[in-house]
Amino acid sequence: FCQDTTTGPIETTMCHYETVESVNEELYSNLKELVQTPFFKYFQVDLYRECPFWHENGFCMNRECGITTVDESEIPEKWRAASLSSIELPPLDERIQLPGCYYRDSDYCFLDDMTEGDYVDLTQVPERYTGYSGPSAHRVWRSIYEENCFGLSELNLMTGRSSAPVSLPDTLTDVLREDLNGEDDGGECLEKRVYYKIISGMHASISTHICLEYLNQTTGEMGPNLQCFVTRVASHPERLQYIYFNTVLLLRAVARIGPYLSAYDYCSTETISPLDHKHSPRSEDEIRTLNKLSNVLTIAEHVGKFDERVLFRGENANILKQEFKEHFRNVSRIMDCVGCDKCRLWGKVQTTGLATALKILFEMDENALDPHKNTNLLQRSEVVALINTLHRFSESLQAVERFREMWKETDDQD
Ligand code: FAD
Repeated sequence: FCQDTTTGPIETTMCHYETVESVNEELYSNLKELVQTPFFKYFQVDLYRECPFWHENGFCMNRECGITTVDESEIPEKWRAASLSSIELPPLDERIQLPGCYYRDSDYCFLDDMTEGDYVDLTQVPERYTGYSGPSAHRVWRSIYEENCFGLSELNLMTGRSSAPVSLPDTLTDVLREDLNGEDDGGECLEKRVYYKIISGMHASISTHICLEYLNQTTGEMGPNLQCFVTRVASHPERLQYIYFNTVLLLRAVARIGPYLSAYDYCSTETISPLDHKHSPRSEDEIRTLNKLSNVLTIAEHVGKFDERVLFRGENANILKQEFKEHFRNVSRIMDCVGCDKCRLWGKVQTTGLATALKILFEMDENALDPHKNTNLLQRSEVVALINTLHRFSESLQAVERFREMWKETDDQD
């Protein structure tokens, strides 16, 4: 089926899943180092805004739910909130008047106001099992699917398409074949299907991380839990496929802003503007960051073949795009309702990363992407979230390999 690349972004993208799998090891090793560099590891986030949709009182008391923030004095001065005056906020009349957050018309998420919130060192708070579950977690997931998913939630969330864990597919081709056979979109338009795939893929990636570092109740240690992965992800092959789908979407966005990312100033000492580093010699950190980034960009250009031009065309294109954007913005606000700090943090990172990718794909023409014409194209938090989100998905794909090995071992024993 990889021959047929003419039927739209979904099918086109599928043909590149095999390629993603073949390069993921390299992609992952570069991303893993990149997200440990000073520029990419600090994320500023306002974690304590009120849930705007309901009164949330389901707070997770588990120690694993908590996070430690970083004192602002540890953050290089030019990245601190007070020094971000070079980042242009949109004019007031373009902003939605919400306390502590705003969006530009092109944004797919509500970004936290840069003057509030804490800094977090993302390398110190791994996304893994926290024990957050039950009605609070289910309510958040349900509202993301139900209230924001064009009524598609019933497709999977409520009924669950394939319930009994049967086996872990051996290869990616098996996964896709099962997915293609089981695909019944009930006449849904392409954009709605894409929206559902993004959300379900993010959910599947989060579940994969939970299962990769799951609490063993007997030993008290964290480790991979195959049954968890089979139940939550592998027994629903389409979920696995959506992790690939998100990876390709993110890679395409990264490839599109390649020139902008290459020209960006990752140096932590003072320079004139975010894209002007001509006058200061590059530090070791900056050289390391640029090297790793350049490897990621090469892979992204090679693999990121998502054809975003097929979406938002035709009669109701603008309405559909607006609707898509509003749904996605709501998802970013629903993250304030997640009752576990660590889960909320990673939820925010990933919705911001995906929203940034969507903005790059659907809102920016070549002119906007030119780093010399548009020096403040993205906020620092958007760049950090985009790369960290790609790292999350790439790590999930690595985990799938690990679970495949575990599955083979148990199979051999039987
Ligand atoms: P859930 O994952 O809660 O899923 C609820 C229902 O959704 C399932 O019964 C199923 O019908 C459906 N469903 C599940 N996966 C998919 C999918 N991929 N596509 C479509 N439908 C699906 N917990 C942690 O331990 N660590 C974390 O870092 C963490 N981060 C979270 C971040 C967010 C934003 C949220 C909302 C929750 C987070 N949680 C985290 C909680 C975690 O996601 C689960 O809710 C919890 O582990 C309970 O899992 P569950 O098996 O009941 O199913």
